[in-house]
Order: sequence, then structure tokens, then C-alpha cells
Amino acid sequence: MQVSPQDEEFRRRVRAWLAENLTGRFAGLRGAGGPGREHEAHDERVAWNRHLAAAGWTCLGWPAEHGGHDATLTQQVIFYEEYARSGAPARVGYLGEELLGPTLIAFGTPEQQRRFLPAIAAVEELWCQGYSEPGAGSDLAAVSTSARLDGDDWVITGQKVWTSLAVEADWCFVLARTQPGSRRGEGLSYLLVPMRQKGITVRPIRQLTGTSEFNEVFFDGARTERGLVVGKVGDGWRVARATLAFERGVATLGQQIGFERELNRLVDMAKRTGAAGDPLLAGKLARAWIGLEVMRAHALRMLAADPATATGAEPSVLKLLWSRWHQDLGELAMEVLGAPSMVARAAPYDLDDWQRLFLFSRADTIYGGSDEIQRGIIAERALGLPRQARS
Ligand SMILES: Cc1cc2nc3c(=O)[nH]c(=O)nc-3n(C[C@H](O)[C@H](O)[C@H](O)COP(=O)(O)OP(=O)(O)OC[C@H]3O[C@@H](n4cnc5c(N)ncnc54)[C@H](O)[C@@H]3O)c2cc1C
Repeated sequence: MQVSPQDEEFRRRVRAWLAENLTGRFAGLRGAGGPGREHEAHDERVAWNRHLAAAGWTCLGWPAEHGGHDATLTQQVIFYEEYARSGAPARVGYLGEELLGPTLIAFGTPEQQRRFLPAIAAVEELWCQGYSEPGAGSDLAAVSTSARLDGDDWVITGQKVWTSLAVEADWCFVLARTQPGSRRGEGLSYLLVPMRQKGITVRPIRQLTGTSEFNEVFFDGARTERGLVVGKVGDGWRVARATLAFERGVATLGQQIGFERELNRLVDMAKRTGAAGDPLLAGKLARAWIGLEVMRAHALRMLAADPATATGAEPSVLKLLWSRWHQDLGELAMEVLGAPSMVARAAPYDLDDWQRLFLFSRADTIYGGSDEIQRGIIAERALGLPRQARS
């Protein structure tokens, strides 16, 4: 990554702002939130995110005309690095800022952009992603939730599942079948649906971690305005795939700095407890450090690559690298902790951060496209093997 003197100045600015502002009422938020721990200090984290927004630290990579800051890739990377290093809490508006916002910028109408982008940038409205269904996970084109026009409204019926943060969300971007009888990717539309209405029931799912980040969402005659379709009616598959591509962008670098922090904490703990004296564990810690370096090098190369020469398999390689790495880290943490890792801190199910990390990391190889799906993509795109038959 090429870093200019201006970039270094930008880094100093980010670092100084975070040091000055992660104080007072926000000081206690360091390290709060993130996968498996989204329940932590939610309202305070919303306040922190709005504070960030007011200072211009959200939506850095969006174009200025849409409320962003035209930040270069290098600056975005620097921001994520500094953000994670400072210990600032996990972001609450991720799905709006990283997934829906760029999708609206690419496919939304000017009215949709004016209506939704400022509220995403200001963290005034939170979003969730309504893709997966009980019969459509990896095979997303099997979506059966339907929407039909009734006057000036779409009326939506069906069920989504594994919908992260649906309890907190104000809006959901929903992939629904708007052409009756259509199959697979045809006849789908990408709808923007308000969550707080009587046609929607959100039922939290209790996870292995004891927390409930994801939910079942039932649409029973839920309504949204006719104009709240992103892209053309019936062209939702294309829009939905674009959102998935945004999911694997620059934010993955911030995630990796979070991983680095976890590894550093684990190394400290291993030194403190004497576990680091075990050559087998020391070797595994060293391997984890190497894994991080590999991941970072791959991510930087992928982000800087010329799309014309990319195979399209690069994000899948990154997903496989980080999901496996993080699961291994969870297992290593249990080894470093030793026998106490098998017991909850208190009855009935009070887990510590390491136990939660270990348990939540089981999901890493599933969400954002499972490992098997990623390997299928690599086989097709990088190796030119035949496309797999779909059920
Ligand atoms: C923590 C977490 C958060 C999530 N958040 C959201 C969210 O906010 N919104 C949302 O819409 N969804 C969300 N999901 C859902 C996620 O996208 C799906 O779980 C994922 O796409 C897999 O789908 P599935 O669970 O139905 O498994 P299935 O697709 O039923 O897969 C079951 C198993 O079969 C394998 N398999 C399936 N198809 C193939 C194939 N063609 N080749 C080889 N193996 C295959 C899979 O790899 C897996 O091991 C979340 C999931 C998790 C775990």
C-alpha cells in the first residue's frame, strides 16, 4: 500500500480524534460489541456512532455528493486500522453504511438516495439484511417470500431467517419474488421495508453464545411504498448480488485489525499464565501470527487489484482465510485457557469473552457465504472447473 505524507497526516488526525473522543461518557465503550457481543452497550454505541457521524467519520468512501468524504482506499484502510487499534467499540450501522448505502448509490433513484443516505450517514436509521429464508440460504435464488402490488403499496408475505440485528433495525432490505410463478433469480425485486409495523414479527433466536444477534422475521401482509424498489422491478437478483460484493470490501481490513487485537490479548494471556512456555502452544501462536500476515497481504492486494485482471475468486480466498483463521484462534484460546475454558463463569450461562469468541466463531464458516460455497466459487472462477449443478 502506497502511503503519502498526506496519508500519514490523515492517520495522525484519525488517531488524535479517537484518543480525544474515546473519553468521558464513551471511555467505557472500548472493546464493546462485535460478533457474539452485539448486545453490549447497544444504546451507548448508537450514541458513539452518532458522535462519529457528526465529526464526519462515517461513510468515508462514499462520494461527497452522497454525504460521504471521497476518501481514497488508503485513507479508508488507515481509518479502519486506527479505529480498531484504538479499541473503539464495534459499529452499529455497518449494514447500512457498508452494504445498503453503496447499493443505493449504484442503483437507487435520486429520491431514494435523498431519503435514505443522509439517515444512514448520520446513524439515525439502522438496517438489516432480509435475504436468507428457511429454504434459501446458500441457494439464495430459491427465495420464496413474495410481494404483490396493492394500490400504492407492496404487500409482503413470507419468512426470513438469520436476520442479524433485526430487533434493533428500523428498515430491512428484502429480496422478494414480485413475479408470481417466476423461478430462481428471475422475477425477484429488492424492496426497502420499514420494520416497525404490524405486518412484521421479529422473533430472536438464542444462539450457542447465549445471546440473540440474529432473528426470524415474519412478513404477514407487511407493507412498503410502491416506489421503494431498488433497481427495476424484477431485477432484484442483480442488485442483491451487488450488495454481496460490497460486503467483502475494505471493511475486512478493520476486521483483521480486530483479529490482531484478539491475538495480542491471547499472547499476553499465554505469557501471564505460563501457557506460552509450552512449545506446542508457542508454535500455534506463531502460526496464528503468520496467518494474520498472509490475510493482510491478500486483502491489500485484492483491494488494490485491477478488476480487469482479477478472477473474481479473490474475495472467496479472503473469506476462507479469515473464517478458518478465526475459528482456529477460538480453539487456541480454549487451549491456552486450559480446563477452566470448559466451565461457565457463573450459572446458568455466564461466558467470558474467550468462550463467546470460540462459540461464535463456529458461525464464521457459514455467514457471508459458507466455506463450501467459497471453494465452489474458487473452483469455477480461478480453476475454470465446471459450474456445480444446483438443486
Ligand atoms: C451469524 C450469522 C449471521 C447471519 N446474518 C444474516 C443476515 O443478516 N441476513 C441474511 O439474510 N442472512 C444471514 N445469515 C444467513 C447466512 O447467509 C446463511 O446461513 C448462509 O448463506 C448459509 O445458508 P443456510 O444456513 O441456509 O445453510 P445451507 O445453505 O442449508 O447449507 C447447509 C450446508 O450445506 C452446504 N452447502 C449448501 N449448498 C452447497 C453447495 N452448492 N455445494 C457445497 N456445499 C453446499 C453449506 O456449505 C452448509 O455446510 C447469517 C448467518 C449467520 C451464521
